[in-house]
Amino acid sequence: MSPFEHTADRLGRAANLVELREVLGDCRRCKLYQQRNHIVYGVGNLNSDVLFVGEAPGENEDRKGEPFVGDAGQLLTTIIKEELGLRRDDVYITNLVKCRPPGNRDPEPDEVAECRPFLVQQIKLVRPQFLVALGKFAAQTLLCSSKPITMLRGKWHDYDGVRLMPTFHPAYALRCPEREGLLREDIKKVLG
Ligand code: URA
Repeated sequence: MSPFEHTADRLGRAANLVELREVLGDCRRCKLYQQRNHIVYGVGNLNSDVLFVGEAPGENEDRKGEPFVGDAGQLLTTIIKEELGLRRDDVYITNLVKCRPPGNRDPEPDEVAECRPFLVQQIKLVRPQFLVALGKFAAQTLLCSSKPITMLRGKWHDYDGVRLMPTFHPAYALRCPEREGLLREDIKKVLG
């Protein structure tokens, strides 16, 4: 029997984020395990009021095993400090997909489908008051929507009783600096 069988039952029984990480194990549920260096699970305050969800680890994150540690992560950390008055350690940060897609390509539907239950369970266990979905993939997946991020962003949505603010991905704001102001505005709404 594959060690990944009965994942759904085991996921539901994980009482905390450490147990959930054990269920994830040395995950081979999708093809992304083949080229990854590290599974990038999540970091920060396990009881945070604010939980950030990105898309998938990039090269730096894959190397370190921690989300948002590259240039996009530096911008995110700065915005968390300047717009929310919080330290990176005060919030919880994770990604929709826990392994790096090769060459930073977009995650594929089967990869999102395998990883999504872990994100859903992380959210249940942290029990944040606010979710921030960074970029199209996280926003569309959590909201089960195919609307573009430009339509979803900047407005409150409901995710299973939790207020969810979709916004641009910080990497996009680095590529299009004129978007940084809107990214800041959206994140500021979270505790504003
Ligand atoms: N981009 C993401 O979506 N997540 C990371 O962890 C890093 C870059």
